[in-house]
Amino acid sequence: MTIVCSRCGMTKDGLEAAPLPGALGARVSHHVCQECWNEWMQTSIRTINHYGLQPAVKEHREKIFELMTEFLKLPAE
Ligand SMILES: [Zn+2]
Repeated sequence: MTIVCSRCGMTKDGLEAAPLPGALGARVSHHVCQECWNEWMQTSIRTINHYGLQPAVKEHREKIFELMTEFLKLPAE
């Protein structure tokens, strides 16, 4: 599937599979290219360390998703 990436603005192939479960994963796979997703993967490691976030904690997960939405410029659904 070809998508217009919300982060880099280029028309590219989308992700082959949703990278996350649920509606958020669907949003990412409809709006973000593989390169930008890879960049987020690398950035998220730094971000998680920087804020001392624990993905196992619900509030922390929500913070990570919030930062991810910002980073990827995901449009509101
Ligand atoms: Zn992109």
